[in-house]
Amino acid sequence: MEICYTFRMRYSKLFGKTIKDAPKDEVAVNAKLLLRGGFIDKLMTGSYTLLHLGRRVEQKIEQIIREEMNATGAGEILMPLLHPKEIWNEAGRWDTAREIMYQFEKDGKEYALSFTHEEIVMDLIRKHVASYKDFPVKIYHFSTKFRDEKRAKSGILRGREFLMKDLYSAHVSEEDMMKYYDEIKKVYIKIFKRMGLDALLTQAGGGVFTKNFTHEFQVIADSGEDEIIYCPKGDFCANVEVKTEEEKCKLCQTPLKKAKAIEVGNIFPLGTYYSEKMKVNFTDKDGKRQPVWLASYGIGLTRAVGAIVEVHHDEKGIIWPKEVAPYDVHLIHIEDPTTEKFVKEVNDTLEKNGIEVLWDDRETVSAGAKFADADLIGIPVRLVVSKRNADKIEFKERKSDKSELLGLEEVIKRLG
Ligand code: ATP
Ligand code: MG
Repeated sequence: MEICYTFRMRYSKLFGKTIKDAPKDEVAVNAKLLLRGGFIDKLMTGSYTLLHLGRRVEQKIEQIIREEMNATGAGEILMPLLHPKEIWNEAGRWDTAREIMYQFEKDGKEYALSFTHEEIVMDLIRKHVASYKDFPVKIYHFSTKFRDEKRAKSGILRGREFLMKDLYSAHVSEEDMMKYYDEIKKVYIKIFKRMGLDALLTQAGGGVFTKNFTHEFQVIADSGEDEIIYCPKGDFCANVEVKTEEEKCKLCQTPLKKAKAIEVGNIFPLGTYYSEKMKVNFTDKDGKRQPVWLASYGIGLTRAVGAIVEVHHDEKGIIWPKEVAPYDVHLIHIEDPTTEKFVKEVNDTLEKNGIEVLWDDRETVSAGAKFADADLIGIPVRLVVSKRNADKIEFKERKSDKSELLGLEEVIKRLG
């Protein structure tokens, strides 16, 4: 996958190095490993900087989502984060969502920081779309969301400021809305699979958005804040918030299981709730005004980074799935003047072949410390150039204990 900047980074030049101990107040595995690995920095509770490595993982996740969104015909936009009170009053959420929204006054005018964008999208549709011929509308963006989270203890799984992809679709009928909604269910499962997450399509309640059902995408993990009840054969899954009484799967009679899980996505068939309140109508074939059918679809990007770490790690550190790893290869040079030319050749050849390299070029650091850092950072493949290996390269996958000595050509072939 292509990200339009450097294919290689020298570890000595990297901003955000590994650290020995995570801050004592961090309890979540994702936060501890991401902080220690130099992926994130903590500004305050629920507020993190994505350092270079963390940003690269997030960008890869973003690119997977972008590709899959575009494939459904959706178009990328970018909406503002600062919203006037009036727009939030139209559907009544200035008051009903007050607890979670950051609201403030400046020079006699009231504002909120974005915690979602349904109202803004409705306003856009009201201004830019008039006829049934203009539908369906499918727009999405990647942006920061602000939520006054009272229990921000799960590292980047629950930020007070976090990145979300939100897609909105608007339609002329319920049937058309549900057709796209059902398509997105499948697309989401594919998106999560590509980033190394087995997400379960889960029945859930409506929360602040809607009184009807919604669907969540839950990843089983002990650190999850949600609890799900599911059929191990995959026929059924629900958030315990909406289903607690059943013991057997209705479809196959298998006893249901319970597990802790992380909600990585949520989709909402909102219907005409917002369009009726905000008077967002279109003209149908017979010239009649009709309310627009709206659905919204969220994925937490920074939460996904944390969920991947929760699922893919061992006692030494993170084990990134290939498609979201910050770099493809962690190249370690065990300092020695006789191998300097060779390590440069390896690095150049990898780059020419489109392979992204994090090259640990530090001179005063021991081999053992470099290996420990590579295990902590979790790039899928480690390559070692050393005097002992001569013109061969030690090739080791992060997830395996075995290493092999290979020639440069063979290394390129394996990584292709
Ligand atoms: P939760 O129940 O975990 O508080 P939510 O149901 O309120 O989340 P949604 O409004 O459904 O969240 O937001 C869509 C997605 O955004 C979620 O599925 C999740 O992946 C992500 N998300 C929500 N809140 C946060 C947060 N505080 N930090 C990081 N990601 C979040
Ligand atoms: Mg949700």
